[in-house]
Amino acid sequence: MAVATDTFTEKTDEQKAITEMVHQFADNEIIPVAEEYDHEDKFPEPIVEQMKELGLFGVTIPEEYGGMGLDLTTYAMIVEELSRGWISISGVVNTHFIGSYLLMKFGTEEQKNTFLPKMATGEIRAAFSLSEPEVGSDVQGIKSTAKQADDGQWEINGQKMWVTNGLRSGLVFVLVKTDTKADPPYKGMTCFICEKEPGADKVPGLTIPPKIKKMGYKGVESTELVFDGFKVPEDRILGGPEGLGEGFVQMMDALEVGRVNVAARGVGVAQRSMELALRYSQERKTFGKPIAQHQAITFKLAEMGTRLEAARLLTMKAARMKDAGERSDLEAGMAKLFASEAAKENAEDALRIHGGYGYSKEYEIERIYRDAPLLLIGEGTSEIQKMVIGKKLLQRNRA
Ligand SMILES: Cc1cc2nc3c(=O)[nH]c(=O)nc-3n(C[C@H](O)[C@H](O)[C@H](O)COP(=O)(O)OP(=O)(O)OC[C@H]3O[C@@H](n4cnc5c(N)ncnc54)[C@H](O)[C@@H]3O)c2cc1C
Repeated sequence: MAVATDTFTEKTDEQKAITEMVHQFADNEIIPVAEEYDHEDKFPEPIVEQMKELGLFGVTIPEEYGGMGLDLTTYAMIVEELSRGWISISGVVNTHFIGSYLLMKFGTEEQKNTFLPKMATGEIRAAFSLSEPEVGSDVQGIKSTAKQADDGQWEINGQKMWVTNGLRSGLVFVLVKTDTKADPPYKGMTCFICEKEPGADKVPGLTIPPKIKKMGYKGVESTELVFDGFKVPEDRILGGPEGLGEGFVQMMDALEVGRVNVAARGVGVAQRSMELALRYSQERKTFGKPIAQHQAITFKLAEMGTRLEAARLLTMKAARMKDAGERSDLEAGMAKLFASEAAKENAEDALRIHGGYGYSKEYEIERIYRDAPLLLIGEGTSEIQKMVIGKKLLQRNRA
C-alpha cells in the first residue's frame, strides 16, 4: 500500500511542543552528564527527579488517573528524544510504561485506582519480569511458580533474571506458572502485581542480589529476583480472578507495544550516532580535507541517514496503526527489528568515523557503541522478531 510518508512523521502542535521540550531536556540535562553516570555505573537520580516533575512517567496514563493521556505515537516521539540523550534514561521509563500498559488494559478498577495515580507522578515506578536464568526467548518454558495457600494468598517461588529497575521499582509485574501441567503451557501462566519497598534488597520472601554488571546500558540496574515464598494477596492477580491463566497473553500484548517502544529507542540511538558522525566528519581533516569529503565517509553518512529515516518511518507507522486500533503486530515486529539493527549499525559506523577517538572514553560514541546492542536483545531478539514477522506474513498471505 503506497502511503505518503509525511502522514507518519508529521507532528501536531502538541507533539511538537512536547518533543521540543524533551529534546532540550536531553541536550541540557542528560547528554552533558551521561558519560559520568555511565563510567561510574550510577543511577541518575537527579535526572529521574526532573522527569517526574515534567510528568514523563505518566505520558500514556489517562488524565483521570493523573497522567497526560497521550497516545503511543507521542510516547514513541518522547522516547526517541530521551534515548537520543542516553538509552539508560529511556530504560527507566520503558519498564514503567509496560507496567502501566498492563494495568490500563487488563487491570481491575481497584487495581487501576490504587496504582495508576502514583505511577503517573513517578512516586511508584514499575518493572516487569518474564526472563529467568535458563529461559528468555522461550517464555512458556519459565519455571517460577505460584501456589495458593489456605489463607487465599499466593506464594511465589523461583528465580527471575534481568529485571530492569528490579531494585528501585515499587511494583513488579511477574509472570509465573500457576498450573505447571497446563497444555499448552501458556494457559497455566499468570501475571502477579508484586508490591515491594523500592530500594530494599531483602524483604520477606524476596531477595534481590547485587545488580548484574553489564557492558553498557549502565546507570539503570538490571537484577535477579529470588522469590522464596513471597506472598501476594489474592486480589493482586492482574485482572482479578479472571486473570488467572491469562498472564502469557497479557504479557505478549504488552510486549507488542513494548516493541514500538524499543524501536523508538533505536531511532534515538541511530539519530545521536548520526549527529556525532556528521559533526566529527566535518571537523576532522586527513589528506588535506575534512574526512566527510572522502567518498567512503560520505557514503557511510548516506547509509546512516537512510537507515535512520527508514527506522523512524517504520516506528511511526507501527505506533500510528496501534493508536488507530488497527492490527500492528507485524509492523511492530518490523519496526523493532529494523530500528534496533539500525541503531547498532549507525553506532558502529559513527565509531569508525571517529577513528582512534571513537575508542576513547572521552568521546560519547564509545558509550553509545556499548549501549546499542541491548536493543538487539530486549523485548525479543532479532531472531525472535524474524520468527514473528515471518509467521505474520504467512498468516496474512495464505496461498
Ligand atoms: C540489559 C538487559 C535488560 C533486560 N531487561 C529485562 C526485563 O526488564 N524483564 C525481563 O523479563 N527480561 C529482561 N531482559 C531479558 C531479555 O528479554 C532476554 O535476554 C531476551 O529475551 C533473550 O533471552 P535469553 O537471553 O535467554 O536468550 P536465549 O533465549 O537463550 O537466546 C539465545 C540466542 O538464541 C537465539 N534463539 C533463541 N530461540 C531461537 C529460535 N527459536 N530460533 C532462532 N534463534 C533463537 C536468540 O535470538 C539468541 O541469539 C533483559 C536483558 C538484558 C540484556
